[in-house]
Amino acid sequence: MERNIKERVFLLFSKKVVNYPVTATLIKRKNVMVNILKAEIMPNEDGYMLVDVEGRKKDIEDAKLFLKQKGVSIFHVSEKVIIHEEECVHCGSCTGVCIPGALYLDKNHRLKFEPQKCILCTLCRETCPTNAIEIIG
Ligand code: SF4
Ligand code: SF4
Repeated sequence: MERNIKERVFLLFSKKVVNYPVTATLIKRKNVMVNILKAEIMPNEDGYMLVDVEGRKKDIEDAKLFLKQKGVSIFHVSEKVIIHEEECVHCGSCTGVCIPGALYLDKNHRLKFEPQKCILCTLCRETCPTNAIEIIG
């Protein structure tokens, strides 16, 4: 019998699909277990979920395809985010995509990073013009 695996993913919902019952549908129709680790979902606003999905590899791939078809963006989470301060020019681009507010500019317009708030979604890396953000994992 095929062994279950667990995959941690970050799901980004546009406000068009935020009301869709994702976890219930995955559990019922796609034969996977979904454990929500963190979520921010508000009616008629963009939202996100950090989830562990557990099941057979094929069922997890099927569930991810289903989500993509529904318009949900899926990101594989990393293990660690490192900000290389010597490369950072404090432009603030990364703060605009950091949903939980782990990255922000302080009153002196210096970038601050609070790792305990980071949900490892990896969205910040793509925004950095100086490649100051390193994602491990
Ligand atoms: S990976 Fe980057 S964008 Fe995502 S929560 Fe962590 S610091 Fe913010
Ligand atoms: S996007 Fe890059 S350079 Fe700009 S504040 Fe963030 S880490 Fe620094």
